[in-house]
Amino acid sequence: MDQVTVVGAGQAGASCVAKLRTDGFGGKITLIGDEAVPPYQRPPLSKAYLLGDMALDRLFLRPEAWYAENNIDLRLGAAVEAVDAGEKTLRLAGEILSYDALVIATGSSPRRLPAKIGGDLAGVHVVRDLADVDAMEPEVTEGRRALIVGGGYIGLEAAAVARKRGMDVTLIEAAPRILGRVAAEETADYMRALHEGHGVTILEGVGIDHLTGAEGKVVGAVLSNCADMRVDMVIVGIGITPNTALAEMAGVACNNGIVTDLKGRTSDPAIWAAGDCTSLSYRGERIRLESVQNAIDQAEAVAKNILGADEDYVPKPWFWSDQYDLKLQIAGLSTGYDYVAVRDGGKARSHWYYAGDTLLAVDAMNDPRGYMIGKRLIEAGKSPSAEIVADPNSDLKALLKT
Ligand code: FAD
Repeated sequence: MDQVTVVGAGQAGASCVAKLRTDGFGGKITLIGDEAVPPYQRPPLSKAYLLGDMALDRLFLRPEAWYAENNIDLRLGAAVEAVDAGEKTLRLAGEILSYDALVIATGSSPRRLPAKIGGDLAGVHVVRDLADVDAMEPEVTEGRRALIVGGGYIGLEAAAVARKRGMDVTLIEAAPRILGRVAAEETADYMRALHEGHGVTILEGVGIDHLTGAEGKVVGAVLSNCADMRVDMVIVGIGITPNTALAEMAGVACNNGIVTDLKGRTSDPAIWAAGDCTSLSYRGERIRLESVQNAIDQAEAVAKNILGADEDYVPKPWFWSDQYDLKLQIAGLSTGYDYVAVRDGGKARSHWYYAGDTLLAVDAMNDPRGYMIGKRLIEAGKSPSAEIVADPNSDLKALLKT
């Protein structure tokens, strides 16, 4: 193995090249990204960075010089246009590069509102890239009206920032309730109350009919309930789709993501994948994990396996979200739950998801202890009784010893 090429200079791509070097790979490493800036963290984009509480240079995962110092050929502003799996080459503008192992870490793209309902008007934004947030930031100003489309974590975080910056904020969710795809009703209720307490108007079961514009700029929205509102800007957070185009071009199997095996390898033995763009196996099902933790851990596992470790990657899902003064931490995946135990400790609160007697996941609100213990229990395959965890006076730590 002489050369490893990584496409996508995001969280997964950066983690993969770093791990290759720290694990002693001495060959050529090329990291190619279509954004103009070195790899950076995305979570602050909808939190501290948009709020103006975090400087640009703190977003970067490593200083740009680190890549050269570690003999990593970092190509920025360079989109890979095609992959030829037979020849083991890829094409960027005006150049053909060859690889022995290729890692696809192309992330995902935000869903947008269709142009025919006004999705292409100026003032309609998505939150994925630094460039998206830099473009919207000047519009997030006191006294203006923001419409947030989508009540998932991105939409809720954007709503919190817009409120904190003094905007008049309405959030609409087309499904019957916010967080319908990722959290229980108990968590949705808590988050709704939090936002309404901060003055956000939340409309559930309400979608967009169309946006209206003047001189190419959004000025209004007609909602599915026929309400007609004036808006100054729109932030769209309606989910993402995995970037699989290059993998498909290479003839690699894709099914709602690039299909990877337990080692992170695709259906082509020389092509690997990591991060948001993959479909991976978890508890016997194919899932996608849209989280920093997965991007790092899966990419590091891929690096190790390229170097011959032959280790299975077992995802240990966790996620967080910051909104106002709330730190929400989530351990595990709640998909398939049939019961939620609520542990109400006043300021610290946690929701424990069960399928039968099996603990699947914990949502912890300003409760780092509940989160940490829940995470350790889930990773150890331990399931304390729902009655015990629901008792705020029970000793959670003792559960780890049983
Ligand atoms: P990315 O980081 O998206 O990197 C992929 C890169 O590949 C991009 O730079 C893309 O432009 C590039 N690329 C794509 N195609 C090509 C091509 N053909 N040629 C060259 N380059 C290409 N996760 C959490 O765990 N907690 C959070 O609180 C959280 N908050 C988030 C907030 C926001 C606003 C966003 C957008 C995401 C958040 N996430 C959060 C999710 C997390 O950031 C992603 O799961 C993570 O970035 C995935 O890493 P990745 O490397 O797979 O993809």
